[in-house]
Amino acid sequence: MIRAALLIFAAMIVYSALKVLFRSAIRGYQEDDRRRTAVQGEEMVQDPECRTYVVKSRAVTRRINGKLCSFCSEACAQQYEVKSRT
Ligand SMILES: [Zn+2]
Repeated sequence: MIRAALLIFAAMIVYSALKVLFRSAIRGYQEDDRRRTAVQGEEMVQDPECRTYVVKSRAVTRRINGKLCSFCSEACAQQYEVKSRT
């Protein structure tokens, strides 16, 4: 009986220790992710069509009249291309 109680107690300690380790690992990962988005956030480009700012790595880029333009979407890129052609 006493041995069983000790086993349960030991299991509880191991379980809580693992839980703390797991939680701190997740927190570290989230902080790393936040840092990465902050770096990406610095690379903002303006969509010349709708004038919104988009993250450069996620923007739709087109070469229009020899100039590289970034857009928030394919639709904006097409609209701007049509406009600059006429
Ligand atoms: Zn746009």
